[in-house]
Amino acid sequence: METAKKLKEKYEKELKELQEDCKHEDISDWLTEEWAPAHSTGWLVKSCNICWKIIQRKTSCPTCKKEIVLNEDEFKSLGYSDEDENTLRQGYCNKKCFIKWSQGIEIE
Ligand SMILES: [Zn+2]
Ligand SMILES: [Zn+2]
Repeated sequence: METAKKLKEKYEKELKELQEDCKHEDISDWLTEEWAPAHSTGWLVKSCNICWKIIQRKTSCPTCKKEIVLNEDEFKSLGYSDEDENTLRQGYCNKKCFIKWSQGIEIE
């Protein structure tokens, strides 16, 4: 019998295949990415209208306001153990900006 779990797995597998085959020729404008309704992840994303795959993401560093634009593949390859990569994942350009922000230091 089909269960919701199986149905979900099937959907995820087929969606993944669609995203791998898709040429991503119909890309959205920048949209706010939400991890739950009305809860922004802090990133704006461009996704493919055909397969929904995220193609690019951008944010601005809360400390120095520098715009950070990453391809989704670059973003996904960021590690958690390297501190600069980990802070970039959270939308700060590097560890220095993260430390300054967490200490409440303003940069002019
Ligand atoms: Zn696509
Ligand atoms: Zn910064």
